[in-house]
Amino acid sequence: MSVPDIALNSGTTIPQLGFGVFKVDPAQTERIVSDALEVGYRHIDTAKAYDNEPGVGAAIAASAIPREELFVTTKLFNSDQGGQSALDAFDLSLAKLGLDYVDLYLIHWPCPARGLFVESWRSLEQIFESGRARAIGVSNFLPHHLQTLLDETTVVPAVNQIELHPYFQQREASEFGRSHGVVTEAWSPLGQGTLVDEAGVQAIADAYGKSLAQVILRWHIQNGNVVIPKSNRRERMAENFDVFDFELTQAEIGIIDALDRGGRLGSDPDVVS
Ligand code: NAD
Repeated sequence: MSVPDIALNSGTTIPQLGFGVFKVDPAQTERIVSDALEVGYRHIDTAKAYDNEPGVGAAIAASAIPREELFVTTKLFNSDQGGQSALDAFDLSLAKLGLDYVDLYLIHWPCPARGLFVESWRSLEQIFESGRARAIGVSNFLPHHLQTLLDETTVVPAVNQIELHPYFQQREASEFGRSHGVVTEAWSPLGQGTLVDEAGVQAIADAYGKSLAQVILRWHIQNGNVVIPKSNRRERMAENFDVFDFELTQAEIGIIDALDRGGRLGSDPDVVS
């Protein structure tokens, strides 16, 4: 079965399952992204901060896949926030990717201490109007950061990409997004591999002949999240892509819902600067 598309408020769509390249070695990125494209991924999530945009671009260029069949996200790094600096950083990211547009451009972190995310967002609005980003959004925005954008700017973010996995379910943030038409995208959807000992999830997996990772990804999909799992290993890329031939029951979803314990793996968005 193919990956479902989710409608964005930009008028475009995003494949619900993508491939993330955080911590993918820049020297290995072209090979790893080429593997992901061969497995079937058509949505790649990178960032200036990952230092591997050139490898993503090289894999895309080497593939025979038409550009319009791909969905590419990159992100504005914290130290590039601002008016002109955000416009310049976007140009540099496009050049490194070797693309003339991205499908989604995100502000990576709100960095409230910098006081620049509203000004940065106005630059993203200009980029969106120019057509060089088909959609614009944010990452790691808490509801109060999103509310500031809603109050002070024009374009509603299409996406908020936040840490979200069974141990850290962020219900308030995703509900706030849903109520404003902002799609929630889950980063570290597999909890960076920390869920290995969950017997309840393993039992569900065994019942379907699936892996624990596949059940967690399926939980995200049925919750409506966009997911961007990462693996350097081709067999795991294929495993993570193979989650559209089974369906969890409400009771099984409830077992995973009950694992929420506020276990953030990443940084607090109010603190990152
Ligand atoms: P993840 O939850 O995708 O976990 C990846 C790790 O889980 C792998 O390194 C591997 O150890 C393990 N794994 C993967 N597939 C597996 C499988 N089938 N079975 C067993 N173990 C498996 O974590 P992540 O890489 O942190 O997040 C995914 C993507 O989210 C990143 O690559 C990046 O694109 C994005 N991200 C964004 C932000 C942000 O601030 N916006 C932060 C972190 C990550």
